[in-house]
Amino acid sequence: MGVLKNLTEEYFGDKVREEDVIFSYDIDEKCPPKYELEPDAEAFLRGLAEHRLFLDKSLSFQINDLQRHTRLMLSGKWIDRFEFPPTDQLKEEIEELDKLIKSLEDRLSQAKKENRNLEEMLSVCKGQRKELEKALCSTEARPYLGMYYYDDDECVITLFVDVIESITAGLDEMKLLMGQVLLHEYFHSFYHHVGVGTRDLLRCVEEPMAEYGSLMVLDSVASSNSTIASTAKEALDYAKKFVEEKQSCIGRIAAYGFGAYLYEFHKNDYQSLIAKYANASLLLDKQSNSALEYKYLLYPKYPAPWNEDITYKKLKALLNVDGVCLSRKDTNAGKRTFQIEHTVTTTSYYFVEAGSNEEAESLYREGKAEMEWKDKDEDLEITKRDDD
Ligand SMILES: [Zn+2]
Repeated sequence: MGVLKNLTEEYFGDKVREEDVIFSYDIDEKCPPKYELEPDAEAFLRGLAEHRLFLDKSLSFQINDLQRHTRLMLSGKWIDRFEFPPTDQLKEEIEELDKLIKSLEDRLSQAKKENRNLEEMLSVCKGQRKELEKALCSTEARPYLGMYYYDDDECVITLFVDVIESITAGLDEMKLLMGQVLLHEYFHSFYHHVGVGTRDLLRCVEEPMAEYGSLMVLDSVASSNSTIASTAKEALDYAKKFVEEKQSCIGRIAAYGFGAYLYEFHKNDYQSLIAKYANASLLLDKQSNSALEYKYLLYPKYPAPWNEDITYKKLKALLNVDGVCLSRKDTNAGKRTFQIEHTVTTTSYYFVEAGSNEEAESLYREGKAEMEWKDKDEDLEITKRDDD
C-alpha cells in the first residue's frame, strides 16, 4: 500500500474519522511469548496508546491513531542477528570516515586563518576512527526488543516480549520497559507516515528521535491526570536510565543515547523538534558533510559532554530543510516553474516561476509563490526497512 503520505489532513482535516480506534494486538502464532500480557501491563499499554502528544496545531502523536495502519504483534521470538558492531557496516563506515577526514583536512588547508571548529571536528573524527578499528575486534550481541517493519502490504510493530522479560527484573519492570519500547517503535511508524520524500532515513537521527519521542510521551502522561500517570512516572525514570546507558555502547546503539540528552536538555523544544523531524525525515541528505559530521560525533561512541551542544546544533541545522526546491520544469521565455516543498508544520507545495533555484527560494520566502497541495503518494518509491 502507498504508505508514504501526510496523514495530518486525514486525522484533523475534514476527513476526520469520528470513531475511536481501540488499542489492539495480535499474538505471534508461530512463536507466542512465554507469558501472556498481565492485566496490569495491558492497562498501562492501553493508557499509553490513548494518550495524544500535541506537536502543533495540525500534528499529534497517538498510538491508537497509528494503529489504523500499523498493527502490533507480541512475539516470543529472539532475533539476535544483530551483532554490535556488524563487521561489514564497520568497514563501510571506516571508509566513509576516511573520506570525511580527508575533506576536513582539505578544508583546513584551504582555510585562510585558524579554524578551531574544523580542527576539533578533525580530532573527533580521528578518535572515532580508532574506536571503529577497535570495534572490529570485539563482538557484542544485542537482541532486538522491538521492531518496526513494513512492505507493500502491511506495517507491523513486533514487541519481543521474551527478550524484554529476560533483561528486566520481574513483571513490574517488564511492564515499564514494554511501554517505552512500544512508544519507540510507534515513533518509527509516525515518522514514516508523516514524512514525504524519497531518501532513506538517517538512522543516527531517526533512533535518538524515536527515543526522545518515547520519553516525551511518558513525561506527558506522567504529568497528566491519567489513571496510569504514576506508572508512567516510574516508566519514565526507568527509560531515562535505560536510554542514557546506551551512550557508552560501541556501535550505532550509542546514537540512541542522544535521545536521553535531547530529553534532558531540550525537553521544552519537543513540539518543534519532533514535528520538524517528522516532516523532514525522508528529505535529509545522508551524504552531506554536515550529516556525516553529526553522525560521527555520535558514533561509534557517544560524544564527550563538551560535544553534545555542537551535535545538537548540527542536528537543528540538518532539520532546517524547509523551503527546499524539489524539482523544476522548463516553461517558455526562459522562466522555469519550481516546485517548493515546505516542511515545517505540515507539508505543502508551492509553485513559482523563476530563473534559478535561489531566485525561486527567495520568491517563496517573500510569499510570492503560489500554494498548491499535492498528493505525493504515487511518485514515491517504497523501500523496505526495519528499525529496532
Ligand atoms: Zn528504533
